[in-house]
Amino acid sequence: MDVEVLGNVGTRFRIIARGVDPSFINAIRRTVMAEVTVPAVDKVFIAENSGVLYDEILAHRVGLVPLKGGEGLVLPSECDCGGKGCPRCEAILTLEVEAPEDAYTVYSGRLKPEGSVFVANNDIPLAVLNKGQKIALEAHTRLGSGREHAKWQPVSGAVVKYEPIITVDAKKCSLSAKCVQACPKKILAVEGSDLKVTSVWDCTLCKECVEACPNGAISVSYNPANAMLMLESEGSMSPQDLIFAACDVLKDKFESIRIALENTKEAS
Ligand SMILES: [Zn+2]
Repeated sequence: MDVEVLGNVGTRFRIIARGVDPSFINAIRRTVMAEVTVPAVDKVFIAENSGVLYDEILAHRVGLVPLKGGEGLVLPSECDCGGKGCPRCEAILTLEVEAPEDAYTVYSGRLKPEGSVFVANNDIPLAVLNKGQKIALEAHTRLGSGREHAKWQPVSGAVVKYEPIITVDAKKCSLSAKCVQACPKKILAVEGSDLKVTSVWDCTLCKECVEACPNGAISVSYNPANAMLMLESEGSMSPQDLIFAACDVLKDKFESIRIALENTKEAS
């Protein structure tokens, strides 16, 4: 297997795996989405809320804020407290605000950490208050994984796709550039007397270019032996760290299989 790291393109991180079945790299995608543990708000205790948002709506909004950190925390299921919640498995964020003016927006950055968990993005609006309205709450965060609830899913985008193949028949191509305009990803360009594909991995295989070409000069297909993994982190961890964490989870699972087989072999 040959791996090429394309790195960050905008907010997206991409790696290409060549010469391997896409299901292999898809295992990493699924593990990132469902099994990598990150912190998220699990319980919200509201002491005061005189704004217009109901307590449960406010709690829901706080619960969706991406968080980072959590070093030293253990999963509640593995904690001595039996999952009830204690300083070993929970970290607290507090929010205390009184609006100094009308139409005052309270952002996620006002959630102050009292432990190892921090807000990953300070600019998420939580509520709008009028002058004198108050919110005082305590949010208890804990580690979890996307398999349990989507709030622990550390990625907002995770995609595996085959390598697109775009072939241009130069004999048929009249350089009408209709395909250039039709391509929603803008990856075709006329350069001199040639039609060039500028960034083949951005192709979504929509075949708009095939339909737009009056001479049938373009064909689009894919190569299932090469695949790209694209991750868009929501801020808990960098995409690279998410891939490291997913590989560790998979390694542990394979190790369990190996140990189970060895034990069976010894017993027989
Ligand atoms: Zn605990």
